[in-house]
Amino acid sequence: SEDFMCQICSEIIYNKLMRQCLNGHVFCEECWKSSLVRKKECCVCRVPVKSIDELSRNRTIENLFLKTKIHCPFSLEQVNFQIKDENGCKEVLLVENLKSHMDKCLFQIIDCKFSKEGCTKRFKKQLLEDHIKECEYRFISCSDCGMDFRISYIPIHSSECPKKSVPCIQKCYKNVVRCEMNKHTDNECGNTVMECKYKEAGCEKRYLRKNQNVHFS
Ligand SMILES: [Zn+2]
Ligand SMILES: [Zn+2]
Ligand SMILES: [Zn+2]
Ligand SMILES: [Zn+2]
Ligand SMILES: [Zn+2]
Ligand SMILES: [Zn+2]
Ligand SMILES: [Zn+2]
Repeated sequence: SEDFMCQICSEIIYNKLMRQCLNGHVFCEECWKSSLVRKKECCVCRVPVKSIDELSRNRTIENLFLKTKIHCPFSLEQVNFQIKDENGCKEVLLVENLKSHMDKCLFQIIDCKFSKEGCTKRFKKQLLEDHIKECEYRFISCSDCGMDFRISYIPIHSSECPKKSVPCIQKCYKNVVRCEMNKHTDNECGNTVMECKYKEAGCEKRYLRKNQNVHFS
């Protein structure tokens, strides 16, 4: 309402210090400061004001305002304390409770929690959970190793994940967990080239492990 507006800047006195001249003309501190830069006087009654410290704070109007009921600012398209957004917050509360309500109000416009990762989406807080499920910057767990990666990085990670099961590099048609590939080729892969165990005795033959029975028969 008009009673709680600074008559110079026409802003609601929310979070403002209200100061007055000797004759009771009340303006917000910012307006007094810029007015005193221009002229060292009250701009209404011209009473001299050397500095802002001469002006007393009008706590009566500040406290009255705290006991006033207003609409949650997230009921608005802009913070001007008039309802504009039909889908916004319907809460009407005491000004002194406004801050704690606004912190948890589901209608406040927030950044995606992956904004640091690059998501530029903004939306009402109540839509956060829905967005997180489909945000292209979200993290998901690798189904093989269980570590979390940004979803766009999963294909790259998948090509190097040590716990992923991949076809044997020697094409024996077995699938092997990537980090155990050496163990597989050393100990069991049928396509590993073997030297004959009688090499010391003079056999120079080499053969694939899967053919060793043929060599020894
Ligand atoms: Zn003002
Ligand atoms: Zn005055
Ligand atoms: Zn609200
Ligand atoms: Zn996002
Ligand atoms: Zn992985
Ligand atoms: Zn193999
Ligand atoms: Zn041999």
